[in-house]
Amino acid sequence: MNIIPEIAALDADMRGWRHHIHAHPETAFEEQATAAFVADKLRSFGLDVHEGLAGTGVVGVLRNGTSTAAVGLRADLDALHIHEASGVPHQSKVPGKMHACGHDGHTTMLLGAAKAMTARKRFDGTAYFIFQPAEENEGGGRVMVEQGLFDRFAMSAVYGMHNWPQMPAGKIALRAGPLMGAYDIFEIVATGRGAHAAMPHLGRDPMPFAAHVINALQTIVARNIHPLEAGVVSVTQVHGGDTWNVIPQEVVLRGTVRTFNPEIQDLIERRMGEIVAGIAATFEMTATLRYERRYPATINSPEETGHALAAATALLGAVNVDTDPMPSMGSEDFAFMLQKKPGCYIWLGSGRGPDTPNLHNPRYDFNDDALAIGASYWVTLAEQQLPAVVARRAA
Ligand SMILES: [Zn+2]
Ligand SMILES: [Zn+2]
Repeated sequence: MNIIPEIAALDADMRGWRHHIHAHPETAFEEQATAAFVADKLRSFGLDVHEGLAGTGVVGVLRNGTSTAAVGLRADLDALHIHEASGVPHQSKVPGKMHACGHDGHTTMLLGAAKAMTARKRFDGTAYFIFQPAEENEGGGRVMVEQGLFDRFAMSAVYGMHNWPQMPAGKIALRAGPLMGAYDIFEIVATGRGAHAAMPHLGRDPMPFAAHVINALQTIVARNIHPLEAGVVSVTQVHGGDTWNVIPQEVVLRGTVRTFNPEIQDLIERRMGEIVAGIAATFEMTATLRYERRYPATINSPEETGHALAAATALLGAVNVDTDPMPSMGSEDFAFMLQKKPGCYIWLGSGRGPDTPNLHNPRYDFNDDALAIGASYWVTLAEQQLPAVVARRAA
């Protein structure tokens, strides 16, 4: 493993930064203290620091040499609404909030890379260190793009990573094309006519509607999409009724749809509308479908995936780089950046063995042994993409 020596020297510091961020988690768009911590560190390393993009976003700018080449490296700052049960010494000090997705590790690795690149100065061009808020649910990456991230900071490509506890530390996985799914949500409201439960003929019962819709929605993936295309339709909430003997007036169903291919996404949305309308008509009631597209699919561009592969291979050796992982139907708001710029998003192995708690588990804690690997990946990638001019000796 070719850990960058300047990163190896920073390992203890990085663990300390990570534990500090972990103990003080902040959720979407409220990452003030985390953003201030990041901005202070970047300033102390000598970077030009821009705060306030998307509220709590931070961009550190590191220039060297004369080249106009520029790349962006991105991490996320936010924690989750989960009550931590890891029992580690640096456990969350905020009840109900925790870094259960490892964004504390992501932030730390990008800080480590910034410091090491400043010390090494082995690149020619500009590296942008992008720390975005609100990756979880709220689309902070989208807001950064909307607020001019790529207009203010011109770069040819943008790169992202996520720690992956199902894969051992010391491995990286990546692929061209989709790596993570599009994330849509839906809400179905069926309005019938409330009645005494002993006199159902006097009402319009939305309960059978709910039962039929939940079943019929499962036929979209099973019967409507091509067998080799991917899609998920999950009904995750059913709300209706308050007591034993009353047929409620209304039932609400909510859930999520995941896809990779926009045509499949369109098809699922269309079929959901048809199924909801058809079953509502069958049971003589009204029903509405609200369908909202949250995050697009995360789609890596081929050329930049090649660059990420070159960096991962130089760092870990080809045997430790999986170039054909099964994509995940989880989603990632780095997708909004990849809609505007070519780039590549990778999975960084962070597993400690088969019992490693997964992302969003209350016992999860980022694996500190992955810090030096991820930070070295960033440095390797940036230095490969912004090659230093070799000093020419005078003849
Ligand atoms: Zn997450
Ligand atoms: Zn995450």
